[in-house]
Amino acid sequence: MCPHRLTLALFPGTVHGLRLVLRSMADYLISGGTGYVPEDGLTAQQLFAISDGLTYNDFLILPGFIDFTADEVDLTSALTRKITLKTPLISSPMDTVTESDMAIAMALMGGIGIIHHNCTPEFQANEVRKVKKFEQGFITDPVVMSPNHTVGDVFEAKNRHGFSGIPVTETGKMGSKLVGIVTSRDIDFLTEKDYITYLSEVMTKRDELVVAPAGVTLKEANEILQRSKKGKLPIVNDSDELVAIIARTDLKKNRDYPLASKDCRKQLLCGAAIGTREDDKYRLDLLMQAGVDVVVLDSSQGNSVYQINMIHYIKQKYPDLQVVGGNVVTAAQAKNLIDAGVDALRVGMGCGSICITQEVMACGRPQGTAVYKVAEYARRFGVPVIADGGIQTVGHVVKALALGASTVMMGSLLAATTEAPGEYFFSDGVRLKKYRGMGSLDAMEKNTSSQKRYFSEGDKVKVAQGVSGSIQDKGSIHKFAPYLIAGIQHGCQDIGAKSLSILRSMMYSGELKLEKRTMSAQVEGGVHGLHSYEKRLY
Ligand code: IMP
Repeated sequence: MCPHRLTLALFPGTVHGLRLVLRSMADYLISGGTGYVPEDGLTAQQLFAISDGLTYNDFLILPGFIDFTADEVDLTSALTRKITLKTPLISSPMDTVTESDMAIAMALMGGIGIIHHNCTPEFQANEVRKVKKFEQGFITDPVVMSPNHTVGDVFEAKNRHGFSGIPVTETGKMGSKLVGIVTSRDIDFLTEKDYITYLSEVMTKRDELVVAPAGVTLKEANEILQRSKKGKLPIVNDSDELVAIIARTDLKKNRDYPLASKDCRKQLLCGAAIGTREDDKYRLDLLMQAGVDVVVLDSSQGNSVYQINMIHYIKQKYPDLQVVGGNVVTAAQAKNLIDAGVDALRVGMGCGSICITQEVMACGRPQGTAVYKVAEYARRFGVPVIADGGIQTVGHVVKALALGASTVMMGSLLAATTEAPGEYFFSDGVRLKKYRGMGSLDAMEKNTSSQKRYFSEGDKVKVAQGVSGSIQDKGSIHKFAPYLIAGIQHGCQDIGAKSLSILRSMMYSGELKLEKRTMSAQVEGGVHGLHSYEKRLY
């Protein structure tokens, strides 16, 4: 039955019925006679115009049409005006999240790590240098000894580091002439009485070693290792000085990273956080010398004269360096930093898992609204937005990106991975790592840097804005990041967006439809009604 007949039958003789008949007829004609599809859901503009502040959990995205596979979804997205990433994931500049190991892993997976600044400028610059100098498979800072070290020293290193193939150079340092190598075969049959023997007497000497020249590719080096059947391959420069080694045990781990974030010299991208004080200018100089690609001005309330002055200073001294400003949660805050010349904005105040800012300072904003409002304003100036904090699930990542963010920054989600700083410990049989807010008393007591993010000069009393806690072991980023990447791709597929730029344009055109979630809808959307269950994610 055609729709107007049906409506007439349902509403005979009433004015209301007549109106519906006319509307149905119009819809029927507009739809070309194929059937009437009523408007459903809200555009982002409608949702955020009418509502209170919304978190990621307060709304859902209505599914669209799928005509591509999930792995075809392109996640390329802008980190800043000039830097593009293949994966929109950033590790937060927190001292329990990002040092060089995390930054290397994030960059290999197509994202980027921002090295924290709760440390000396020299330590931070050195962490950046390790990322920039990283070459897949090449160990550039191995344990090295001199001929005057003893067998006892080798056993001690073996106990501490769990390996025994140690290159020997004239000075016992990298960059000095290679004179031999000590492997387990050289010391296997030695006993405690031999501990005082010099390595010069037991090592395999330089003329018996197979080495490779600096500049050798990983593939060539691997072939040499396979042919020579040795455990370690020293890499030397023209002056026979040791520049790296390759370990046979790493051979299997040396795989390709097609998404890796690299600069024009093929070095991994790396970011670092700094503050806005006078002494941060010295820190900035060291970071520049180490090759940093992007600096993040680390402030919980970024709309300040201090940050604006720092942006001007950096842009004048290092015009090519990309600068991320923030944090902001309103368009008015964003305006000042955009006017000052930032290359990206970090959005979020009070949404972090370890954060008590909203509780203590009374300022902040629910993160869904903050991301939408700032991104909607900043896009007019071509400034990408980083959704920072509050990401608890891969679905939250998809929502942040659907609200206009170009990338997401995570703390708790990446904490307690193998690559996060800190040692694992056990509590009640559970393997944990520490995770703490940079505004927690715990972090502030370590160094003065994080105090700068959370306190003004002259503050006499510390007011904590974060807590210190622990998170369960998550394994390696090399397993976790592929799960996040695949999860985002599946989310985009369900929405019907084949790339992140399509996702954003669907949102701004109003094609993407959203819906508010009541409390009971949120309960329905989670696991419920089971006596017990195991939640394994990947
Ligand atoms: P998460 O991903 O929800 O754990 O949030 C991480 C984010 O919280 C960081 O990137 C910072 O923006 C923010 N943050 C870090 N430390 C603190 C703190 O002590 N108080 C408030 N916010 C913090």
